[in-house]
Amino acid sequence: MATHKVTLMEGDGIGPEISRSVVQIIQAAGVSIDWERCEAGKIPMEKGVTTGLPDETIASIDRNKVALKAPLETALGYGGKSANVTLRKLFELYGNTRPCRELPGIAGPFAGRDIDLVVVRENVEDLYAGIEHMQTPGVAQCLKLISRKGCEKIVRLAFELAISEGRKKVACASKSNIMKMSEGLMKKTFEDIAPEYEVQGIETEHFIIDNLAHQLVRVPEQFDVIVTTNMNGDIISDLTSGLTGGLGLAPSANIGNDVVMFEAVHGSAPTIAGKDIANPTAFILSACMMLRHLGEFDAAEKVERAIHETLEEGKVLTVDVAQGVEPATTTQYTEAIIANLGKASKTYKARDYKKVRLPELDPRPDFVTAKSWESIGCDLFIESPLDATALGDSLVELAQGAALKLKMISNRGMKVYPAMAGSRTDCIDHWRCRFVRTDDSKAVTNDDITTLVEKVQAKHDWMHIEKLHLVDGERAYSMAQGED
Ligand code: NAD
Repeated sequence: MATHKVTLMEGDGIGPEISRSVVQIIQAAGVSIDWERCEAGKIPMEKGVTTGLPDETIASIDRNKVALKAPLETALGYGGKSANVTLRKLFELYGNTRPCRELPGIAGPFAGRDIDLVVVRENVEDLYAGIEHMQTPGVAQCLKLISRKGCEKIVRLAFELAISEGRKKVACASKSNIMKMSEGLMKKTFEDIAPEYEVQGIETEHFIIDNLAHQLVRVPEQFDVIVTTNMNGDIISDLTSGLTGGLGLAPSANIGNDVVMFEAVHGSAPTIAGKDIANPTAFILSACMMLRHLGEFDAAEKVERAIHETLEEGKVLTVDVAQGVEPATTTQYTEAIIANLGKASKTYKARDYKKVRLPELDPRPDFVTAKSWESIGCDLFIESPLDATALGDSLVELAQGAALKLKMISNRGMKVYPAMAGSRTDCIDHWRCRFVRTDDSKAVTNDDITTLVEKVQAKHDWMHIEKLHLVDGERAYSMAQGED
């Protein structure tokens, strides 16, 4: 029997209690794991490790490539950066998979609907790049960065996961009707890759994310695998956890091509910590995902069957799910699961799991190259207390003699100069001033933009510039509402 080496972070709050439960159950299921216990979260932060991740912990994960992590807290007064997010970014754990499967004996409005789906959430890009700036004292901006490379990785992971679990449908969810470039890149990537998997028998469909939310609470059982961008996935995967009984039951994996980290969806539940009443199910199910990653398919199924059997019996249940019975402690619930190892369970539906084939992509930063990438203007963002007409007239005059002329000004995306009839835009002091080339036969140079900026800054304060490009002759920027 092979011994697997795994980094175990017992974490904060209820972390040590649910970790104890997992270690005992895995041992009882006959899997040999050499746990390398490492500190992470609040305890190292309080010892002065501001990231919450001591060097030994990072080295252990780097070495073992598989980690099981209990919830971590961010200690107050240590910069406020979450060790969880740092771990995801540090090891490029780009895929967050969250299975949502109905468990027996768990009451709720969706009980009996046989929900069995997986949300595959992009985990490192999007608004979560954490690039935020106050643009004026009263206007905040957060950059939503989405790359073709990031989309390809997550879309391929979703399809490969579907194949490894014998699933038949992959749905992509995006807000591409509004954010045509960023969210649209996810939709386009999905549509480009889908045919490779449709020939392997996978059905594909795209949903606008708001419709997906609606469908999920009306007919959740129609979904199999859902792949989506980071922010959408964050919200939708909490929604799906709620469909089948809530946080105490929801497992997850953070997948990278080199390192994989498993964790429960819930946090450290500090108010119930140390009382031996936490529900360890989510963490045990996360450990089952880890066992499959380690190739221990039979043991994973054995543990899942024992959880089902224990919930079906409905006699030994933790307080969050106990109904009509005296609640059991975490320890008693763990013992009940161990006693049920090897039992079949009436409700358990086995899947023929295989190891997930992780996507191997070209690692170059310039993953996408264009035949032509032509600069045709710029958006100059100006902070100004003036109104649209006064600012616009001033910019037209200042740009005289430059290689760029003012095309329009928008305020929060709505064209306000030249004003549209009936406009009631409640303007703020953040103006997007669009300048385009005066001669369509010449590409705009950096010097052209610098000259324009020098002219404009004589009278106005700018806070940032975006270049306007054509990529292979196609417009590579969005139009303002009302712009033509
Ligand atoms: P939480 O998930 O810890 O708790 C929310 C509610 O669910 C509480 O009522 C709690 O008692 C209950 N709960 C959670 N897990 C349970 C379990 N296994 N059994 C029974 N009841 C359970 O969320 P929170 O209160 O917002 O966060 C607490 C701390 O956890 C915060 O410091 C937060 O930053 C951290 N957190 C960490 C992670 C992670 O490590 N991945 C995730 C979420 C929150």
